Amino acid sequence: MAIEVVTFGCRLNTVESEVMKQKAEAAGLTDAVLVNTCAVTGEAVRQARQAIRRARRENPAARIVVTGCAAQTDPASFAAMEEVDLVVGNDQKMTEAAYRALPDFGVAAAEKTRVNDIMSVRETALHLVDGFEGRARAFVQVQNGCDHRCTFCIIPYGRGNSRSVPMGEVVAQVRRLVENGYAEVVLTGVDLTSYGQDLPGTPRLGKLTRTILAHVPELKRLRISSIDSIEADEDLMRAIAEEERLMPHLHLSLQAGDDMILKRMKRRHLRADAIRFCEEARRLRPDMVFGADLIAGFPTEDEAMFAQSLAIVDDCGLTHLHVFPYSPRPGTPAARMPQLERAVIKERAARLRVKGDDAFTAHLASETGRRRLVLIEKNGLGRTEQFTLAEIAAGRPGEIVDAVVTGHTERALVAKAA
Ligand code: SF4
Repeated sequence: MAIEVVTFGCRLNTVESEVMKQKAEAAGLTDAVLVNTCAVTGEAVRQARQAIRRARRENPAARIVVTGCAAQTDPASFAAMEEVDLVVGNDQKMTEAAYRALPDFGVAAAEKTRVNDIMSVRETALHLVDGFEGRARAFVQVQNGCDHRCTFCIIPYGRGNSRSVPMGEVVAQVRRLVENGYAEVVLTGVDLTSYGQDLPGTPRLGKLTRTILAHVPELKRLRISSIDSIEADEDLMRAIAEEERLMPHLHLSLQAGDDMILKRMKRRHLRADAIRFCEEARRLRPDMVFGADLIAGFPTEDEAMFAQSLAIVDDCGLTHLHVFPYSPRPGTPAARMPQLERAVIKERAARLRVKGDDAFTAHLASETGRRRLVLIEKNGLGRTEQFTLAEIAAGRPGEIVDAVVTGHTERALVAKAA
């Protein structure tokens, strides 16, 4: 058996899983399952435990190594699992040495934990990768960690404070991926809009975006994974207006639609700021679409406050919604606030999802007749510039097809080659 990687959570974990596999192989590990966990919700942690038990059942002799944000924030609970051979922190998981901390290399089985203080990490080194197996688009980690402390969020405790990858290294990575045939690159991080604050000259995300597009003219499509709209810089707004290769799709970290709840979340924006941002971005780029993260059932949220979250879907013109039922994370301030009943949280999440589905269906319907460039992901399926799924009987994975939208199903556009 080779090395299998099980990845949970965000695109950052996807990038890191690619590097982890390389490092474990280089360390000489041969028979192992690496579980790269997420801690954003209790459900994500539950699924990771389930995956660990399954990995052990299916691979009785393999080494099971657990890492990622759930392992970083609660190493003892994973070390206590008899299925687990080693628990590795988010910083160490990117090193060969971490994968040699196993009995295979003479280390005592009792020493199961290698997790350092993530808040002490000051740099984020870019690990060059050649590509992402079985994926039509490539991801580049440009930033890690977060300096904010939103009251519901456990991420800073899993990933540490914000740190950025120098622009030159990012450009080199993008160029390498384009040389390896990737038509689309996605910039990822934890808090992308804080990019560069720790670098000499403090280049912002907008400058990074324009620098990549200027230095890698062969790159066909650049996508930004998720932003905090209140921190979007002027250069980024100019890039949105002027750079056709910057994809007209932004995923916003909105979290709620009510100002009092946003304050209790310790977010930096108010609902009017989010609406203004979407209006301005759409004025600059009329084909722009927005996705957003929204939490349902945050502590103290009453029906009127929740109604503001429902309303923000229309007010911002959101079409690609990620709805999170509030999940209390151990050690976060919100977990100590008066909690809503589970049933109320679930019911509100369901209503918000329906709202999101309706908005998405309206978006699909509005696309009929339009000309779109579809990046083929696998036979018969791809995504437009707006990141909307499209069924199309043309093109090979990784190719961009010039297409016309002829209709839609419940979850995707239907298109044909133009
Ligand atoms: S900005 Fe807030 S929600 Fe986002 S990672 Fe940082 S603390 Fe978490």
